[in-house]
Amino acid sequence: MNGVWQKAADRIRDVIGQVGYEAWIKPLNFISLENQTATIEAPNKFFRDIVVERYLLLMSNSLSQEVGEPVEIKLAVCARSPLGANGSTNGHSANGHSNGHAAGALKNPRPASALADPADARKTLHPQLIPRYTFAEFVVGSSNQFAHAAALAAANQPGEKYNPLFIYGGVGLGKTHLATAIGHHIWAAGNYQRILFMPAEVFMNELIGSLRRDRMAEFKERFRRADVLILDDVQFLAGRERTQEEFFHTFNSLHAERHQIVLTSDKAPRDINGLEERLRNRFESGLIADIAPPDLETRVAIVQKKADLEHLVFPAEVALWIAQNVSSNVREIEGSLTRLSALASISRKPITVDFAREALRDMIRTNDSKPDIETIQRAVGDFFHIRLADLKSKKRTQHIAFCRQVAMYLCRKLTNASFPSIGDAFGRDHSTVIHAYNLIHARITSDSAFRFSIEKIERGLKTQHANAA
Ligand code: ADP
Ligand code: MG
Repeated sequence: MNGVWQKAADRIRDVIGQVGYEAWIKPLNFISLENQTATIEAPNKFFRDIVVERYLLLMSNSLSQEVGEPVEIKLAVCARSPLGANGSTNGHSANGHSNGHAAGALKNPRPASALADPADARKTLHPQLIPRYTFAEFVVGSSNQFAHAAALAAANQPGEKYNPLFIYGGVGLGKTHLATAIGHHIWAAGNYQRILFMPAEVFMNELIGSLRRDRMAEFKERFRRADVLILDDVQFLAGRERTQEEFFHTFNSLHAERHQIVLTSDKAPRDINGLEERLRNRFESGLIADIAPPDLETRVAIVQKKADLEHLVFPAEVALWIAQNVSSNVREIEGSLTRLSALASISRKPITVDFAREALRDMIRTNDSKPDIETIQRAVGDFFHIRLADLKSKKRTQHIAFCRQVAMYLCRKLTNASFPSIGDAFGRDHSTVIHAYNLIHARITSDSAFRFSIEKIERGLKTQHANAA
């Protein structure tokens, strides 16, 4: 990467924070800087539109500061992306760089993880694990970024960094995918041979079988020899005392030898009822990472990535429509693409928004009920890339205070909550909420760009909420 751009990018990171940087700035590809014009490439059109809306000004300011003269930015779309190539987007790439460059770019929504993934070659996949559950095929967004980073770190230094790694989150959000990716990655690196992936239920059944057939020594040996043990859906251990007892010993012996243990669950350890205290302690002794439902941008990236993989071509607006109207459960998003692809090939019609609406009629959720305060806080935090904890904290930095005011405003507008109860949710009193409400309301009336942003958060909340219902 160009040194000037790297320095400018560092400045941008200082302003928007690591999460926003990883999500929106890092995936950009610096192409050239000539005649005070920087050409930068985004992975696809949707991505570019978001960057333009949120970060373009910041980018050109930061670059100008580095260069020492005003720099204009041309944001092009990567020509290789089928979605990006659709429609008018290629016309934006400056000076013909885009084509020459694109051949070697091999960009997808998250090049960073793809490059770091030795399983990429496909030759080195673990033979017993689901082939497509690799880091390369995992789309990273703010909802799963932490879990992804933790998984990658554990995969790069098995047994050393985060042991156990405990990944939890709702159904269909990528826990099994990430846990499997760790297995592929470690396998591909070639230092470890015995990588054992097992659903916790299977562990239990095998244990019962071994007990019955008096084969416990074998059972113990098999697990304790593992270099890496990935136990999927450990919430199934709840209430199974004998299984927990056995797993406790398995865990301890692997852990003592610094063999990597990866656990997934639909709940945090403390929320699994019927889990023995000592096991809970073990689960909490390493790193715990949660996966939240993907936000709109991540859903779009997922739709695009899956479409790319399936060689399914449709305009960006269809990707956006699917992301807005189908569930936030990634498994269901995949299901909708499968259906779309089948119907399109049968009917031989091009995939348009109308076509998608018709094809996916019964997969669309509609719901008019109201989001709750925490959902709004999260949505605002996601949008502005600040953490929920900061939003609720006493911090008074200008950006955080402003986001907090937006969140307060939306809570008042979208829920039935009173000013005092909204205040409670932010650790403030009701007069602060009223002040925030008036301030944001006034600004919405006078500043249409600002109004668009707020409306965008509201739209996101509507679909998100409909999906969760
Ligand atoms: P969970 O174990 O959390 O229920 P899975 O790991 O089985 O969910 O994921 C469900 C499906 O969604 C899988 O096909 C998986 O590949 C896909 N998926 C989930 N999250 C992502 C993601 N971030 N990027 C790409 N595919 C994903
Ligand atoms: Mg799973």
